[in-house]
Amino acid sequence: MGNKILRKVFLAFMRIHILYHAKKEPFFGLWMIEELKSHGYKVSSGTIYPILHSMEEDGILVSEEKTIEGKVRKYYSLTGKGEKILVEVKDKTKELSREIME
Ligand SMILES: [Zn+2]
Repeated sequence: MGNKILRKVFLAFMRIHILYHAKKEPFFGLWMIEELKSHGYKVSSGTIYPILHSMEEDGILVSEEKTIEGKVRKYYSLTGKGEKILVEVKDKTKELSREIME
């Protein structure tokens, strides 16, 4: 992500992944870093945690501490407000890809 505009676009794409996965199943930060890596986004915890916190502050995500296999982690899931945003984002993403991928 050497370039300003690319970084901005990728950050927006990453937020879409976050919305989508938070709806599917609660996740923790490190899991999301790996998930984004599998999609070709190199992202550090210093980038992902502030995004998750700001989405939580905006009432889009909600977090809960869970202990799974002896590990205490913060799991994020989507709120009702977040679900509405995801619907809108999906519409716009479909529309965008319809136009640019033809
Ligand atoms: Zn994904």
